[in-house]
Amino acid sequence: MSECIFCKIVDKSISSQIVYESADVLAFYDLNPQAPTHILIIPKKHVPKLSSASAEDVELLGKVQIAARDIAAKLKIDDFRLVLNNGRKAGQSVDHIHYHLLGGRRMNWPPG
Ligand code: 5GP
Ligand code: ZN
Repeated sequence: MSECIFCKIVDKSISSQIVYESADVLAFYDLNPQAPTHILIIPKKHVPKLSSASAEDVELLGKVQIAARDIAAKLKIDDFRLVLNNGRKAGQSVDHIHYHLLGGRRMNWPPG
């Protein structure tokens, strides 16, 4: 049994507010939102971080990004930020690849 919380969200042993689901991709609202809209988009496959992704994950990661496009369109969010934190010092706290889809407010740059 996986100890990964996002794998548990994928297998629905931990509940989440799902906004999008396909065969390979799941998206759900972040528990601790940093913007009016804050959604996490993950591959259902457990890949710990982008650094550990392989060539066979290319199509999967493309599907994750296209899901972000579709979710933003569905929610009518024209301007959004898609963030992937890779590694602890970059802010990654859950070791299962996830993109943050942030929208509904002005974003600052540099992100800090
Ligand atoms: P990271 O810091 O790894 O880039 O992002 C992890 C994100 O997962 C955080 O924004 C955090 O709020 C969110 N998160 C952690 N545990 C849960 C959970 O059980 N459910 C949901 N919906 N989000 C979670
Ligand atoms: Zn996982």
